Amino acid sequence: MQLWVLGANGPYPTAGRPTAGYLLTHDETHVWVDAGSGTLLALQDLMDPADVDALVISHRHVDHSVDVFPLYHYLRFGAGRPDPLPLFVPEGLGGQITEYTGTGFAAAFDVSTPAVGAVITVGSVTLRFSHADHSVPTLQLRAEAGGRSITYSADTGTGSDLVRLAAGCNTLLAEASFQGRDKPAAHHLTATEAGEIATQAGVERLILTHLMPSLDPQQSIKEAAAAFGGDVMVATPGLEVLI
Ligand SMILES: [Zn+2]
Ligand SMILES: [Zn+2]
Repeated sequence: MQLWVLGANGPYPTAGRPTAGYLLTHDETHVWVDAGSGTLLALQDLMDPADVDALVISHRHVDHSVDVFPLYHYLRFGAGRPDPLPLFVPEGLGGQITEYTGTGFAAAFDVSTPAVGAVITVGSVTLRFSHADHSVPTLQLRAEAGGRSITYSADTGTGSDLVRLAAGCNTLLAEASFQGRDKPAAHHLTATEAGEIATQAGVERLILTHLMPSLDPQQSIKEAAAAFGGDVMVATPGLEVLI
């Protein structure tokens, strides 16, 4: 299984750096996770977005969701696809997007809200969901394929079941919005907290993401590595990782 980072910025994009978006691929299966601003463009460097097998939007905050709107136009007014695109969203988000776009949205997407613990198969990839500790309903995700596994924290504080969801995973892709003890928002993680969760979950590799654009990534790596003995990396656009 491969992870391609489309974008990894915290709350806003900067030049050449989209907000949250990731592509998971295994054999012929492509799962797009989070559609932050700029990720539809970045995805087109890798593949035709109409050919993804599913899109997961972790939550409604714009740094994770807004490119679903240009994607809707891409599917509706471009070459399209023969069947609606499976779209997994947290509770309430399907209705909110439809309200914004109009009913044509329902024809382009097959929207569903996975229950906690539900196991969903997309091609050769198995998806398992949990809820993040965030200010709005937010999905966390564990993906498994070919005997390998990755868990994505989405935006979260320390109060989620992330340790259990990520237990024994090869890779934990965890948000690390902040550094040091400075935590202006409770529903996010510091690099140290991400490292502690990686240790508790017993993962092999930790990839930090969703850093505030003003932070020095090397400092985040240093802080996470003090709490976690495995590999630590920072997600950057274009990064490709074999899980
Ligand atoms: Zn965010
Ligand atoms: Zn958020």
